[in-house]
Amino acid sequence: MTHPNDPTLRSFIGVDPASDFPIQNLPYGVFSAKDGLAPRVGVAIGDHVLDLWQLEQDGRLDVGELGVFAAPMLNPFMALGPKVWARIRARISELLRHDNPELRDDAGLRLRALVPTADVKLHLPIAVAGYTDFYSSKEHATNVGTMFRDKTNPLLPNWLHIPIGYNGRSSTVVVSGTKVRRPRGQLKPPNVEVPSFGPCKRLDFELEMGVVIGQPSPMGEMLTEQQAEEMIFGFVLLNDWSARDIQQWEYVPLGPFQAKAFATSISPWIVTREALQPFRVHGPAQHPTPLPYLRQAAANNYDMVLDVDLRTAQMNEPQNICRTNFKYMYWSSVQQLVHHASSGCAMNVGDLLGSGTISGPDKHERGSLLEISWNGSEPIELPGGEKRTFLEDGDSLVMRGWCQGEGYRIGFGEVEGTIVAAE
Ligand code: MN
Repeated sequence: MTHPNDPTLRSFIGVDPASDFPIQNLPYGVFSAKDGLAPRVGVAIGDHVLDLWQLEQDGRLDVGELGVFAAPMLNPFMALGPKVWARIRARISELLRHDNPELRDDAGLRLRALVPTADVKLHLPIAVAGYTDFYSSKEHATNVGTMFRDKTNPLLPNWLHIPIGYNGRSSTVVVSGTKVRRPRGQLKPPNVEVPSFGPCKRLDFELEMGVVIGQPSPMGEMLTEQQAEEMIFGFVLLNDWSARDIQQWEYVPLGPFQAKAFATSISPWIVTREALQPFRVHGPAQHPTPLPYLRQAAANNYDMVLDVDLRTAQMNEPQNICRTNFKYMYWSSVQQLVHHASSGCAMNVGDLLGSGTISGPDKHERGSLLEISWNGSEPIELPGGEKRTFLEDGDSLVMRGWCQGEGYRIGFGEVEGTIVAAE
C-alpha cells in the first residue's frame, strides 16, 4: 500500500495546492458542527473536516476501543500509542484516496462524515496535562542577553549545556480565536522605588511550536533519544503571551510566574510527527558537545516556515512582522523531552512543551516584539501611520506555519488572538 506521505497521492476531495491540509497531512482536531452533537475527533482535509466518529459508527474505521473518537479531546486516542496512530492514519488516507470508492461513492456517508470547515467550531484539541516552556533558540537567547545583560557575553553559562525551561500553567492554554485579556500584575519600572499593581503596559507575543506528548513515561526513568521521539504525537503553533514588565520585576530568582500564566494560545489542528517526516533536517552544530544523555544522532529539527501577522483595530489588512523557520532551534524537541525526564520527572499523555521563542539570524526573523522593537527603542511603523512597540488593546496577532513539499504543503492553519482591555 502507498505510504500516506507519498507526494503523488490525491484525494477525491479537491484540495488547492496552497491549502494547509492536503491528503499528505491529515491533522487531528476536535470539532462540533451544527448538528448539535457533542465535540468529537476529526481530521482536516482541504476545506472539510472528516468526522472520525461517523466513520467508526459506519464500520469504516476500527481503532480497537470504543469511545475514542467520541471524546472531546485527543488524549484517549493518543494513549493507544504510535502503532495505532500509524495504522489509523494509513486507513484515513486510504478512505480519502481518489481511486477508492468506499467513501467517495457512498453519498449518505459522505453527507454524514464530511463537514465544511466553515460550518464547524474548533475546540482545544487536547486536555493539557502539563505545560512546560523552553528557551531553546540561540538567536532569541542572544538577543535577550544582549539587551539585558552583556553584548560581549550574552548567553548565561548554563545555556549551551542545558535546554533551559520552566513549568508553566496548563489551566490557561486556550485554542485559537480565544480573546486574551490584558493581564494585571505588579509593575516596578527601574526608575521608581516601589511597585504598583495594574494592567501590563508591555504586552508581547512569543512565536513558538508546541510539542504534544502522546505517551507517558514512568517516574524515575530516563529516556533515550528514540524513546523520546516515539512519545511525540505531533505539533501545534503556540503563542506564549508574555507580560514583559511583570516578568522583569518578578523573575528573580525563580523565573517567570504571572508574566506567562495568564494565557497561552495554540492552533486547533495537531499535525502528526509522521506527516512531518519528509521535512526533517539536522539542527545547528552543538558546541560544546552536549553531555552524553543529551546527544542526538537523528535529524530532529524540521524545515518549517513560520509567519507572524499583526492587525490593529484601525487596520483593514494585516501586516507581516516576522518570517522565520523552526529549523534554527539549537535544542531540538527530542532533546527537550529527554532533558525533561532526566531527573526522573514523569511525563503524561497530553503534556505540552513550548519550544521557546523561535528567532532566526536576520532582523525580520525575530519571534517577539521585545526583539522586533529592541526593547521598545525601535517601534514598528504600520500602514496608516500607527506605531507599535508592544501590543495595544484591539490588536490581533496571527501565526501560521507550514512545510513546503513539491506541489503541496503540510500546514498548521493558524493561531489567532485579539487583546481586550484589562477591565
Ligand atoms: Mn516562551
